[in-house]
Amino acid sequence: MLRQLARLEGKVAIITGGASGLGKAAAQEFIREGATVIIADINSVAGLEAAQELGPKAQFFKCDVSDEQDVSNTVDHTVACHGRLDVMYNNAGIPGPLTESDISRLDLTEFDKVMSVNVRGTLAGIKHAARVMRQNGSGSILCTASISGLMGGLGTYPYSISKSTIIGIVKAAASELAQHGIRVNCISPFVIPTPLVTEQFSQIYYGAGAEAVSGIINSLGVLKGAKCETADVAQAAVFLASDDAKYVSGQNLVIDGGFSSFKHLNM
Ligand code: NAD
Repeated sequence: MLRQLARLEGKVAIITGGASGLGKAAAQEFIREGATVIIADINSVAGLEAAQELGPKAQFFKCDVSDEQDVSNTVDHTVACHGRLDVMYNNAGIPGPLTESDISRLDLTEFDKVMSVNVRGTLAGIKHAARVMRQNGSGSILCTASISGLMGGLGTYPYSISKSTIIGIVKAAASELAQHGIRVNCISPFVIPTPLVTEQFSQIYYGAGAEAVSGIINSLGVLKGAKCETADVAQAAVFLASDDAKYVSGQNLVIDGGFSSFKHLNM
């Protein structure tokens, strides 16, 4: 039987927020497809644990994406250790406190915090990845947006605003960087019970545990017989990172089982 070739063989990737949830699942899938992955995360304990769990092709580098110097150092460290950077996955993100869902209680300091991680962090990631990718004349930059950036009522104000801004940034950067052979895309996932979401839902549903939160989230989905899992997003990221997507740029790949595309009874 023919063995399917690994789609990211020999590629070097940075995944921000790679210590947990969607980022960690992507790191696992990237490594399975042959990549070397730098897990860039603000949480050193979780980041080191994740790197150890994922084996010798994973490496942890501490990085707060809201600090441009940290992002620049992460990119330079990657190139110094591995000689190149093929994929930059700007995935780290925070939701902001739930009080930020009520415009009359909006605290603009909290707004700035969310924007500094989700938007500033993404911009810094694109800027510094492009700096080194331009020298190779190729590269794939991915960003994590959300269906909250496409629809109202699915997250706090800063979160929704930050995610729709990311979709705009991706289009602008794809347009500029195409001349250098660099593709830029984003992924907008449905709700998935990662630590970020489980913590927020347990506040909304008065202390509901992880299992109850998963049940609530699964009841929101519209695609019969399926639920959105971290692996669904990781597979999409592998596709966009790989040469299978060599003519795909400036796109927002929505992974929501159709939720944002049609009217349905759960709304
Ligand atoms: P998560 O909390 O499991 O993981 C987020 C990771 O980002 C953590 O490891 C955290 O330490 C890291 N991080 C936070 N701030 C950082 C910073 N300043 N610098 C570097 N790392 C930082 O959450 P997740 O659900 O896996 O979220 C990953 C991304 O997916 C986020 O951008 C989130 O907005 C987006 N997203 C999640 C869902 C979902 O339902 N889980 C849906 C749509 C989009």
